[in-house]
Amino acid sequence: MSTVLGCIADDFTGATDLAGLLARSGVRVSLRIGVPTEPPSQTSPVEVIALKSRTAPVAEAVAETRAALAWLQRAGAQRFFWKYCSTFDCTDAGNIGPVAEALMADLGTDQTIYCPAFPENGRSIYMGHLFVGQQPLAESSMKDHPLTPMRDSNLMRLLTPQVTRAVGLANRLVVAQGAPALRAKLDRLKADGVAHVIVDAVADEDLHIIAEACRDMPLITGGSAVAMALPALYLADGTLSADAPKGPSPDVGKSTIVLSGSCSAMTNKQVATYVAQGAPAYQLDPLDLAKAGTHGVLAWLAAQNLTKAPLIYATADPSSVKAAQEILGIAAVGQMIENTLAACAVAARDAGARRIIVAGGETSGAVTKALGVLQLDIGAEIAPGVPWTFCMSDGKQIALTLKSGNFGTETFFADAQEKLEAP
Ligand code: ADP
Repeated sequence: MSTVLGCIADDFTGATDLAGLLARSGVRVSLRIGVPTEPPSQTSPVEVIALKSRTAPVAEAVAETRAALAWLQRAGAQRFFWKYCSTFDCTDAGNIGPVAEALMADLGTDQTIYCPAFPENGRSIYMGHLFVGQQPLAESSMKDHPLTPMRDSNLMRLLTPQVTRAVGLANRLVVAQGAPALRAKLDRLKADGVAHVIVDAVADEDLHIIAEACRDMPLITGGSAVAMALPALYLADGTLSADAPKGPSPDVGKSTIVLSGSCSAMTNKQVATYVAQGAPAYQLDPLDLAKAGTHGVLAWLAAQNLTKAPLIYATADPSSVKAAQEILGIAAVGQMIENTLAACAVAARDAGARRIIVAGGETSGAVTKALGVLQLDIGAEIAPGVPWTFCMSDGKQIALTLKSGNFGTETFFADAQEKLEAP
C-alpha cells in the first residue's frame, strides 16, 4: 500500500515514541533507521524514518532530512510530519528551524506549525511558553542537558534566530475555539507573511483540534502527541485503513542488557531505582574511560549472567556531567560514552542478550547503528511513547526498546521486562 503519512524524526527514541503512538490507532507503522538505501517497496501506510540529526551540524541535518523526505515522497506520501523532542531540544543554530525551512522549500509550502506539546507526559505550551510539568522549560532539568541545554522557555524566541521568515503564535484562546477558528487564524497569519506558527496546547483536546485544523497541511512539525491525533482523522475519511497485524510478540528469551547514557532527571531516578532493586550494575566513569578504554566494562559484562538483566550506565547528575565535560570537552565525552555503550550492546548481543533496553536518545542512535538495525516493527507500549520494538541484528531476532531521557516512570527498567513477559 502506498504511504499516506511520511514522518521524519530527529533522533531514534523520538522516532520510536512517534511510531508507538501512531500505532495505537491500529494502523500499520514501519520504522526505518536512517534513510533507506533501497527505493521504497512493501511500504506501510505510515512510515517513520529515524535520523540522528538533532545535534548534527546544520548542513548535515538539512541534507539528511531532505533525503528522507525524497524517499517518503517516492513511497507515495503527500503529507509529512517532522518530529523533534517535546522539550524542543535545539541550539541557537538549529536544527529545528533550518530543517523545517528546507522541508517547506522542497514541498513548496509557505507555512507550517510547531507544536511540541505532549500533555500525557507533562509537556504543555501556553502563550508560546513550553512547560515541563509545572516548570517553564528553562527552569526544568532541561537547563542542564549535556548537549542541548534549554535556557529559554519561549518557543518564538528559540525559533526566531534559526529561521529566515517570520515566526508567530496561535495561542490557546484561539485553539480552544475549535478547528475552524484555528484554521482562520493560520490563514490570517499566512496573509501577514508568518511562515512559522507556534501553536499552544495544554490538553489532549487541543491536540485533536490542531490535528483537525492542520490535517491537510503538507508539513506539520512538533512532538509525537500532535501527530497521534492524525491517523484517527485519516481513518474516519477512509484515507487510511486499520490493518496492523495484531499477532503476539515474538518470544526472544530472557537474556537482557540495560544500557543507560541519558543524564535526565528521570533516568537518574530510574537507574537509582533499578540498582536499589538489586540489579547487577556497572557505572562508567568518563575520566577512567578516557584513560583506560573499554576493557574494564567489557570484562565486567563478559562475567555477567544476562538473565539477571545487568545494567551499564553513564547516567550521572548535572555537576558530574559538567565536571567531565570541562576536562574532556562536551562532544568528546558524549561520543566516547555513546561509543562505549554501543560496544557493550554488540558484546551483550554476541553473548546471547536478546532483550536490549536503552535509555537516551543519542545513546539509542549509537546503539542501533552498532547493532546494524535497519527496520523495526512496533510492539507493545511500556510507557507512553516508549514501545518495545522487534528487529533483526546480525541474523538474530532482538527485542529493543529505546527510551528518551525523561520518559517512563521510576520503575521503567523492570516495567519493560515485565511487559515482555505479560501473557
Ligand atoms: P537524553 O535522551 O536524556 O537526551 P542522550 O543519550 O540523547 O540522552 O544524551 C545524553 C548525552 O550525554 C550522550 O551524548 C551521552 O554520551 C552523554 N553522557 C552520558 N553520561 C555522561 C556523563 N557522565 N558525563 C558526560 N556526558 C555524559
